Amino acid sequence: MTEPGKVSMEKIVSLCQRRGFIFPSSEIYGGLSSCWDYGPLGVELKRNIKDAWWRAVVQERDDIVGLDAGILMHPQTWAASGHLEGFSDPLVECKNCHLRWRVDDLKDKNCPSCGGELTKPRLFNLMFKTFMGPVEEEANVVYLRPETAQGMFVNFQNVVNTTRKRIPFGITQIGKAFRNEITTGNFVFRSREFEQMEIEFFVKPGTDEEWFNYWLEERLNWYVNLGIKKEHLRLRQHTKGELAHYARVCYDIDYLFPMGWAELEGIANRGDFDLVQHVKYSGKSLDYFDDETKERFIPYIIEPSAGVDRSALAFLCDAYDEEPAEDEIRVLLHFHPSLAPIKVAVLPLSRREKLVEAAKQIYADLRQCWIVDYDDAQSIGRRYRRQDEIGTPFCITIDFQSLEDKQVTIRERDTMKQIRVPISELKAALAAKLSGEDLFVLPPGGQIWKE
Ligand code: ATP
Repeated sequence: MTEPGKVSMEKIVSLCQRRGFIFPSSEIYGGLSSCWDYGPLGVELKRNIKDAWWRAVVQERDDIVGLDAGILMHPQTWAASGHLEGFSDPLVECKNCHLRWRVDDLKDKNCPSCGGELTKPRLFNLMFKTFMGPVEEEANVVYLRPETAQGMFVNFQNVVNTTRKRIPFGITQIGKAFRNEITTGNFVFRSREFEQMEIEFFVKPGTDEEWFNYWLEERLNWYVNLGIKKEHLRLRQHTKGELAHYARVCYDIDYLFPMGWAELEGIANRGDFDLVQHVKYSGKSLDYFDDETKERFIPYIIEPSAGVDRSALAFLCDAYDEEPAEDEIRVLLHFHPSLAPIKVAVLPLSRREKLVEAAKQIYADLRQCWIVDYDDAQSIGRRYRRQDEIGTPFCITIDFQSLEDKQVTIRERDTMKQIRVPISELKAALAAKLSGEDLFVLPPGGQIWKE
């Protein structure tokens, strides 16, 4: 077994490239620094993470609604938010090798690369700038959003007016964000284009502390419920020095990545900073009238802000495992079934026509419900390994006996145990197992095949 938290980044990167989770961006041109492309399996993993988020925060709740604001926003947004001025990292440059470093990341006074002398810190804006319309002049400057949050603040009044949501309630959004990061690296952990999943939860001032604590716990549980080991997560409070200009209190949910503990998600009590700023810059009223108490106030905001890419990396690292199996090492990803890119693989024992025909029929039927793979190349053992390595929870094997008894075997990824079930019961049995039912809970006519 791989020791918890001990998988190397090299192994994760190699698996991701080998099996089509994540590729370097525009690789045929030598790649683009800190940009990544998600391959056929990666795109499914990301989609599943976003679905799990949406399910937990929108579908299963009645106090959060969704939004999809544009990546390009009115430039005043960024003046109000403080990003135009403050969204900058103090940087120092090495006088010798000219590499730039974030002051936050420095452990001593000299350049971490060559030991050279460093300049005084300077501010550097992390927003990507572009031009709207055909003329490239300052009046037409717009920015690629560096966070999804602002889209939710500027739409606060629209949501209040068009839904019957009353405070406390939240808005959530999933989408791309762009930052011209200085210190990149560690694979998709810090890239220049990434996806965020954020909630802006509007509460009455005075109840903010309670809601903050509520969201800390909710968000931590979300990762644990999706299979991340508790001991690989921790909460870390921001010190006064590192607290962002808008935040009253902030905690990071850190994950034990291969390079050490690092932020997976930030949860901040933003107070009324954002709405007050947008009132100031837009001249519009963004206050809220409480029908019950007849009070008018500007709500406080509690913000859980997570990254899709960092989550994908954490789920990959946590799921990774190696174990000895019949003279070789079995590599497997113990993905939670709801995150696994492929839920079921259909494997005919041989390519004999009758078997293929029966297998293809099952394949077509299961595809109505899930993303399913079909594989008839090489030995059955090799095919099981291939599915284990990408985290497919169940393999269905169709053998010659299947043609007689109309039964197939279901093999479970983690235990490699098998049951045999009537084809007529297969879909219902898989649905139950994918929802967490024990493999050995048998459907009608089912039997234990391999213990
Ligand atoms: P860091 O200090 O690690 O750069 P941050 O504190 O700037 O992160 P936030 O502004 O709190 O990050 O963004 C919220 C979340 O968005 C982060 O917890 C992370 O999951 C994700 N995120 C932020 N920047 C990046 C990035 N450059 N690449 C990938 N994900 C990111």
